[in-house]
Amino acid sequence: MNQKDCPPLLAVKHLGVAFETDQGQVLAVDDVSFELTSGQVLGIAGESGCGKSVTALSLMRLLPKPVSKIKEGEILFKGQNLLDLSTDALGKIRGKKISMIFQEPMTALNPVHTVGRQIVESYSLHSPGMGEKEKIRASSQMLAKVGIPDARQVMKKYPHQLSGGMRQRVMIGMALACEPDILIADEPTTALDVTVQAQIMDLIFQFRDKTGMAVILITHDLGLIAENCDRVVIMYAGTVAESASVTTLFRNPFHPYTKKLLQSIPSRAQTAKEPLPTIPGNVPALSEMPAGCRFAKRCEHAYTPCEKHLPRLISVSSDHFAACHLAHSGGKKSNFNK
Ligand code: SF4
Repeated sequence: MNQKDCPPLLAVKHLGVAFETDQGQVLAVDDVSFELTSGQVLGIAGESGCGKSVTALSLMRLLPKPVSKIKEGEILFKGQNLLDLSTDALGKIRGKKISMIFQEPMTALNPVHTVGRQIVESYSLHSPGMGEKEKIRASSQMLAKVGIPDARQVMKKYPHQLSGGMRQRVMIGMALACEPDILIADEPTTALDVTVQAQIMDLIFQFRDKTGMAVILITHDLGLIAENCDRVVIMYAGTVAESASVTTLFRNPFHPYTKKLLQSIPSRAQTAKEPLPTIPGNVPALSEMPAGCRFAKRCEHAYTPCEKHLPRLISVSSDHFAACHLAHSGGKKSNFNK
């Protein structure tokens, strides 16, 4: 079956997440929708503060409380809305069916337990029928697979006794030990050097090939997306700016923000002395979101409707969507009568 014809494993529909701030309630994520099928790798990209991580944490209902709240939308995992589940029912999915890895491994590792105890626990959760010796053997094999030498010795250590790179590998090993249906990887390799980065991504994709696991890769690194993803969602200021297959988005980007992001990827022809093109200005603060397009202040194509009306995501070609007023007029500025 073509991936496009598969029923979605995960469908996020019109997700809205609000935060309480000194200036009142603000929407950090607004009307975000996307789908994911088994075995698919979806990249979510954008600058810092564009809502990528808040979206990822919402999927696991891991947002800080009481300052944040999922205000609207649905998160359908195998057709079941995760937002309707009790904490106990969600606990059966979180870490088992859907696992998450973070840029900072100490977010996931318990500092007072040895690495061995923590990874063995992952196996206990996923495979309760497994014997103790079997779990220890599987744990050490998993640590070896994620590139940890002398795994049995490392299992006796506490997280603070390991380097950052080693901790990262342990966390990834723990997430994969559960053989999740979905792995959410939030900037998983940002803190690692390029060689280790490539090894970790390879490992994740070997698992994907073996188990059919789907992956959501959250990153500001479009190079990582181009190399590893099937589909990509570009976020800007809490909304989806553009969404398409990776091939379409890189060959034929529509949204002015996506075009600018692509121009800021270093090219091989770039010399060390040449400055990288950047996007002037900043993502607007949550408390100062304009009524119209959130990219308008930085967009060289902005015209009258952009200041007044927030563009919604519409189809610009087959399976390719953009939230830009130019999409209403085939890429040309036109009178806006909506
Ligand atoms: Fe630029 Fe207007 Fe499109 Fe926003 S809606 S990206 S301001 S052209």
